[in-house]
Amino acid sequence: MRTRITEMLGIEHPIIQGGMQWVGLAEMAAAVSNAGGLGIVTALTQPTPEDLAKEIKRCGEMTDKPFAVNLTILPTIKPVPYEEFAQAIIDSGVKIVETAGRNPEPFLPGFKAAGIKVIHKCTSIRHSLKAEKIGCDAVSVDGFECAGHPGEDDVTNLILLPIAARRLKIPFIASGGFGDGRGLAAALAMGADGINMGTRFMVTKEAPIHENVKQRMVEASELDTALIYRSLRNTARVFKNSIADRVKEIESQPGETKFEDIQPLVQGVKGRELFEDGDLEKGIWSAGMIVGLIDDIPSCEELLFRMVNEAEEIISERLAKIVGA
Ligand code: NAD
Repeated sequence: MRTRITEMLGIEHPIIQGGMQWVGLAEMAAAVSNAGGLGIVTALTQPTPEDLAKEIKRCGEMTDKPFAVNLTILPTIKPVPYEEFAQAIIDSGVKIVETAGRNPEPFLPGFKAAGIKVIHKCTSIRHSLKAEKIGCDAVSVDGFECAGHPGEDDVTNLILLPIAARRLKIPFIASGGFGDGRGLAAALAMGADGINMGTRFMVTKEAPIHENVKQRMVEASELDTALIYRSLRNTARVFKNSIADRVKEIESQPGETKFEDIQPLVQGVKGRELFEDGDLEKGIWSAGMIVGLIDDIPSCEELLFRMVNEAEEIISERLAKIVGA
């Protein structure tokens, strides 16, 4: 498959790994890149910019294919030295960055001067157009189905992607709700140049998380995600467990919810421990509605091979027959 995104990024398949907090370690990113997709090391998974530099180096030792780094700018419990993380990315020599969350404009001059392609992840058309205007090379359009932070507009990809196709000039990637060949073919049909998958890559052999988490996601249906932090306007879609239920309960109580009321339940370190020890009720973890379509734990290579073949068959057989080609 050749699209503007495979050409721009120098990758074989138009499939990009989501920037997953605690999961985007060198092992994950290298596995996706080695399988022909674009792997992503997540900056904030590392405690300091120096650790990020080491992680990028480690990833470079595991793959000779392109890989990217994700820099997410959203509310955090502890302040993050974003400028220093950005500088570590520039100094590492990585040539692709995915920014997410707030406007990446302050970081663009540094990234551009270093010859870095910037993909900005947005949850709305207005933010996508803004990203194009300020000089991002591509955008990742994140629909309401997605894991993590879907924004506050609640528009699904069936609407977002065709609008993006009409209005954007730069290439765009469809993100949220993707995990099989049907989804890949549909995204391309709606005008996207590729897809981004986080949740689906969590349920692969190489994902550096506990087997219990993977197994639970295999068993899950499309109804097993929950939206938390709605009352704080920092909505996140997470896997539905007792902690997510408890957070929602606190948020539904009369009066204003303060982040402090829920902080002990949701802190990221608890989620990291959950990924390490497999205690599924220890904290929260991001998961998208695609969990309903995940029913095995393949290697990244098996997954991408299968998805691309399935999409190609749909396009060249099923759809071609429909139009009598
Ligand atoms: P953390 O431990 O600092 O915070 C835990 C969660 O609480 C995060 O979702 C954060 O956005 C939220 N939060 C923190 N302070 C808040 C406040 N004052 N008001 C409202 N919400 C608040 O975060 P972490 O788990 O170490 O993750 C680091 C960063 O990565 C955060 O910015 C987080 O949002 C982001 N993240 C993004 C995704 C995604 O969308 N793919 C998934 C997980 C984490």
